[in-house]
Amino acid sequence: MRYVSTRGQAPILNFSNTLLAGLAQDGGLYIPETWPQISADDLRKMRGLSYPELAAKIVHLFTGNEIPEAVLLDLCQKSYAGFNHKAIVPLIQLDHNLFVQELFHGPTLAFKDMAMQLLGHLFDYVLSQRGEKITIVGATSGDTGSAAIEAFKGSSNLTVTILHPYGRTSEVQRRQMTTVLEPNINNIAVEGSFDDCQDLVKAMFADAPFRDAVQLSAVNSINWGRIAAQVPYYIYAALLLGAPDREVSFTVPTGNFGNILAAWTARKIGVPINLLCVGSNHNDILTRFLLNNDMSIQGVRPSLSPSMDIQISSNFERLLFELLDRDADQCRQTMQDFRQNKKMDIPANIWNKATENFKGMALSDQETEKVIQQYYKESAYLADPHTAIGIATAQKYRNKDIPMVTVATAHPAKFPDAIKQATGITPALPLTLSDLYDRKESYQVLPANLKKIEDSVRATIRKNNF
Ligand SMILES: *Cc1c(COP(=O)(O)O)cnc(C)c1O
Repeated sequence: MRYVSTRGQAPILNFSNTLLAGLAQDGGLYIPETWPQISADDLRKMRGLSYPELAAKIVHLFTGNEIPEAVLLDLCQKSYAGFNHKAIVPLIQLDHNLFVQELFHGPTLAFKDMAMQLLGHLFDYVLSQRGEKITIVGATSGDTGSAAIEAFKGSSNLTVTILHPYGRTSEVQRRQMTTVLEPNINNIAVEGSFDDCQDLVKAMFADAPFRDAVQLSAVNSINWGRIAAQVPYYIYAALLLGAPDREVSFTVPTGNFGNILAAWTARKIGVPINLLCVGSNHNDILTRFLLNNDMSIQGVRPSLSPSMDIQISSNFERLLFELLDRDADQCRQTMQDFRQNKKMDIPANIWNKATENFKGMALSDQETEKVIQQYYKESAYLADPHTAIGIATAQKYRNKDIPMVTVATAHPAKFPDAIKQATGITPALPLTLSDLYDRKESYQVLPANLKKIEDSVRATIRKNNF
């Protein structure tokens, strides 16, 4: 399997190199050179597979024979063994033809575990095969950092340093990171804001001698490996609801456009998917684009659904590349102009193509609380604020003949205040996390100083004898 950059000026890579590279050298995003295809017959044969079995078959389409399917099966089984639900991605019915698929039964209670757990095993496999060691660094305001730490803890091929803003994450979020005590994990609380943390990560990548000496790498949401690992659950739900002999629609509460791009990928490779709907909070750049062709950058305001508080949806570039019939020059130009003008100029015919595929809707915090309350009352379902936005969007666009599935991206116990406000009850943490507040924490507090952070990264590497 070969991967090309959406901006056309980076080397073509195989799957493993795409995985380790993350972003392409020309600033673009990697995407398969040609789309693999699954036939209706192949899909019918996949009915009845367990989630790890299905995931191995689907991810294999994106790795090709670089990673044997039997190896992938083993990695998928390990990745999902620690989930808190035996079905891994259970499908729950809320109303006639309205379902949620819960993607939050992993160790950090959010859907990022679905991809990150598998990414951890894939990195380990590829690095062991090559006999290489790398250093992963990242900045987090909460969810991504803990998902990465849970996925990479205990690896003997890499260390992970995660920066979070000191005193500015919730206690649950901090403890999910800092109570992981494996020696390859390094948590730093930076005396500064989330932006300071991000700037420090960028500065480490810009420091070429440091970057090369420690073999710096990142696992952010533009990594194709993460998208590939998110395709299987859409196919799993579609098969349960009658695919390939019946269409299904999906609604995804969206931030960086990664999760919904995986749904679109499922359609691209042959799964009959009708609508793809985007749910936003008041940081609604995607919905403004879909409703009015207005892709302009505005300031981010905090919301009840913090994982969707974004200014730009970086994965949109992959869809744009396809909508432009893979014209990399035009894609590069559009993205450069977007950076400069803070507004993306999309020709009407391209916008029309996008709106055939995608629908969008934005909800205020107040509307989100109402939806949480409504579904708790009417269907005894407790949705977290992200999921509630998805459910409201699904309700708007559903068609009575086609099942609509909303993906539930976070466990309600991750957002106890919003749930309490809407329903009066406090959701309980799952058993595996019930002692979170009693666990020992380990992290250092450091000033926002590049040299001090780099020293800490090096110290972690030495501690692991790399
Ligand atoms: C990351 C996240 C999202 C947004 O996912 P994207 O792939 O960025 O669209 C939605 N909900 C939750 C709970 C998340 O953690």
